[in-house]
Amino acid sequence: MASAQRATNSDTPGCRNEQRAARYLAALERRCGRASVRRSRVSATFRIETPLMHMTKANSIDLALALPGAYDALAYSHTCYAGKFPPCGECHACVPRAHGFDEAGVEDPLIARAQA
Ligand SMILES: [Zn+2]
Repeated sequence: MASAQRATNSDTPGCRNEQRAARYLAALERRCGRASVRRSRVSATFRIETPLMHMTKANSIDLALALPGAYDALAYSHTCYAGKFPPCGECHACVPRAHGFDEAGVEDPLIARAQA
């Protein structure tokens, strides 16, 4: 599972431009669709759903709080561009993630798990 999401306070290269992200996802969807058709020889539609695309991180955390198990699952998500666990807390993924949890007013369960 991957998450594409609107950046709130980030100039993260991958999140800088929503139109660029939408074009990238559309191209990926077409490419994956062609590959799945070639492999299966069955005509099928491949769709990438991005329900979080236009939500802020705080809004998506609020949504996770409303969906059973979703908030707890965030303890096992990975965001850090440095690939570290516990997360580095300084990269262009960790900083907006921390900001989103601050805005939502809840603890990041990934950080809580790292400190346990
Ligand atoms: Zn990081």
